[in-house]
Amino acid sequence: MRKLPLSLLSYVEQDQRFYSYPIHEDDIPKMRLKDQIYQELEKRNINNEPDDFEEYWINRVGPTLYNMFVNQYSKKMWTIDSNKELDTFNWSAKDNPIDSGSKECYKGSLMSYPISKNGYNEYFEKTIEGSKLMLNKSVKTVDLEKKSVTLEDGSVLSGDIIVSSMSIDQLNNCSLGELPYAGRDFIPFVLPCKQVFPGDIRFCHYTQSEIYTRIVEYKKFTYHESEDTLLVMEIPSKRNKLYPYMIKKYLDLAKKYNQALPEGIYSIGRAGTYKYSTIEQTIVQAFEVCKKITGKSEDDMDNEFYKIGDLSMIKSRK
Ligand SMILES: Cc1cc2nc3c(=O)[nH]c(=O)nc-3n(C[C@H](O)[C@H](O)[C@H](O)COP(=O)(O)OP(=O)(O)OC[C@H]3O[C@@H](n4cnc5c(N)ncnc54)[C@H](O)[C@@H]3O)c2cc1C
Repeated sequence: MRKLPLSLLSYVEQDQRFYSYPIHEDDIPKMRLKDQIYQELEKRNINNEPDDFEEYWINRVGPTLYNMFVNQYSKKMWTIDSNKELDTFNWSAKDNPIDSGSKECYKGSLMSYPISKNGYNEYFEKTIEGSKLMLNKSVKTVDLEKKSVTLEDGSVLSGDIIVSSMSIDQLNNCSLGELPYAGRDFIPFVLPCKQVFPGDIRFCHYTQSEIYTRIVEYKKFTYHESEDTLLVMEIPSKRNKLYPYMIKKYLDLAKKYNQALPEGIYSIGRAGTYKYSTIEQTIVQAFEVCKKITGKSEDDMDNEFYKIGDLSMIKSRK
C-alpha cells in the first residue's frame, strides 16, 4: 500500500470559491459572510442534544456554514428533501467540526492505496487460491433453511455455510420489506494534461446546485504515468445500491434481518450489514466470520476500525 496524505476541497457556489473540507479555521476569513459566521460560531452550543442531522450540524457550525457546506450537499447525496430525515449522525462529523492545523483530512488515520497496477486484485486472488470461483453469476433467490441459492440461470448451489455480501434484505427475500439505498452514476472523462487537481487534492466536492456531488482524479491514487489524466464525475442515482441510509428505522430493520438468519448463514460487508463501511472494515468483518467458522484468528484483526463497520452483528451470530 502507498500512503496517501489526503486533502479535499468543497466548491461553494455562493462564494465562487473552493475551501478545504473539513471546514478549516484558516478559510473563514476568506469567506464572503465571515462576520455572520463568526457571530454564529460565538452563539452555537455544541452540547445541545440534536434530534436530526440538520440540528446536529447547525448546533456545531451555525446556519451559514451549514448552508455553505452541508445542507444542499447532503440532500443531493441522499436524494432527500430535508436533512431532518437523517436521524443518526455519529458517522458524519467530529466533536469539533471546525478544523485547525494541517489541512489533511482523517488526521490520525492511515490513508493508503495499493501500489500494484491492478489495485487490490492480487490480494483477493490470493485469498481464493484453492477455491472454486464463479464470476458474473447473479443470485436470484435464497432458501435460508436449506442453505441454497438459485442463480439467474436457474442453477442451484447449496452448502453447509453461506457467507453473503449481497444486500441483507435480498438475502432474506425481502420478507419484512425492502431497504433503500442511494446510488451513483459514474461519468469518466479523459483530459489532455498530466494533472488537474493541485498537490494532495484527490477529491473535489460540489456543495450546491450542481447535479454532481464529487469529481475524483484517479491518477492521484494510482500514480499512473501518462500525458493525460482521468477524472470521474459522480452523480446521485437510483440505478445501483451503494450507500445505505443512516436512518434508525432502516438500521433497525437490517438488525432484524440479521437476527432472523439461521445458524451458519453470515451476512457481511456494506450491503450485508447495511452500514456505511469502508474497505478495511469489510475485510475485518470477513476475518471475524472466518474466526467464527474455523476458530482461528489473525493477529490484530479482532478490533474493528473506527467502530462503523459493525462487528457486533457478526459477533452475535452463531
Ligand atoms: C463511490 C464510492 C467511493 C468509495 N470510496 C472508498 C474509499 O475511498 N475507501 C474505502 O475504504 N471505501 C470506499 N468505499 C466503500 C467500499 O467500496 C466498500 O466498503 C466496499 O466495496 C464494501 O465491500 P463489499 O464486499 O461489502 O461490497 P461490494 O464491493 O459492493 O461487493 C458486493 C458484491 O456483491 C455483488 N452482488 C450483489 N448482489 C448480488 C446478487 N444478488 N448476486 C450476485 N452478486 C451480487 C455486487 O455486484 C458486488 O460485486 C466507497 C464506496 C463508494 C460507493
